[in-house]
Amino acid sequence: MAYQIPEKLKKLQAYEPVTEVYKVRLDANESFIDLPDEIRKEVLEAISQVEFNRYPDPEAKELCQCFGEFFQVDSRLLTAGNGSDELISLIVQNFLEPGQTMLTVSPDFSMYGFYAQAAGAKVEILDKQDMVLCAEDMIQKARETGAELIIFSNPCNPTALKLERQDILQIVAQTDALVVVDEAYMDFSEGSVLDEIENYGNLIVLKTCSKAFGMAAIRLGFAAANEEITRILKAAKSPYNVNSLTQAAGCAVLKHREYLQECTEKIKESVGELYAGLKALKEKKQQIRKLYPTSTNFVYVDIKAGETVFEGLKKAGISVRFMKGYLRICAGSQRENQEILQSLENLLQ
Ligand SMILES: *Cc1c(COP(=O)(O)O)cnc(C)c1O
Repeated sequence: MAYQIPEKLKKLQAYEPVTEVYKVRLDANESFIDLPDEIRKEVLEAISQVEFNRYPDPEAKELCQCFGEFFQVDSRLLTAGNGSDELISLIVQNFLEPGQTMLTVSPDFSMYGFYAQAAGAKVEILDKQDMVLCAEDMIQKARETGAELIIFSNPCNPTALKLERQDILQIVAQTDALVVVDEAYMDFSEGSVLDEIENYGNLIVLKTCSKAFGMAAIRLGFAAANEEITRILKAAKSPYNVNSLTQAAGCAVLKHREYLQECTEKIKESVGELYAGLKALKEKKQQIRKLYPTSTNFVYVDIKAGETVFEGLKKAGISVRFMKGYLRICAGSQRENQEILQSLENLLQ
């Protein structure tokens, strides 16, 4: 008998980020601010100290301390990951047995369902046509489906909308499932539940350095949870999941609290400008159906004939995300925002 690839793998599709070259890249929700030279120098200095012949610290202790200091979390309750993406995969594959149920939301981050399917878990979706998520619906759906794990982003990618802190805590308190709150964009808003991890036995909060902190290149994310869950995460992860270069670079940047806060403020200003520009366009252009208020660094736009607009923007050298009739546009520099607004002005009816 010849080797047979497992059925579930035959249908597997690779994640397809934008790889073509565009002069304006507003498709991946990255920060538009690259490291300034002084901090870049410190990063290179830190990397030059790395013992290249040795394995990294498996627990990334110093890195977790830097991150913990920034967010005022006990660093022993943090697990570092090769991007929060790795942590999503780790959680979904270890906290769900084959045939168990994961509940997520639509629309939300696509990787949740992707990893759950790879783990042989059942995926249930709370479908939010009107985009507005509410705690009661989530709790009820979790009961109906018997979900063992609930995962969603807050604020949400792609809708940019946010559930309030008390709603998140209500979900955590009123369900028996493990609740994973992905706060990739919470730096742009308020209402984190990071300070609640010790008060619940079923809460994991995910954080990333890829968005507000502008470190998408080094792949660094964190899971925060109580002692027991953290112990399991650390036992279940691959031992050297965060490499020494990332650990060194991450520490060097995270020490610059003020700089990171300034960046976050600049990005918030930029998204405010982008939103205002789009709002003004909406007054003139009927093609824009709806603009969603944003708690993130991007704006979600319901637009008629979105695909044509998306293609038109690409021709103009501007890349955004097009998802089922909606455009997700990340805030860029002032110049980039002006470019996309001008291009939309030209493209839209
Ligand atoms: C960007 C993003 C991530 C991925 O973060 P990495 O740390 O770069 O892997 C996770 N969750 C959501 C909702 C995101 O938008």
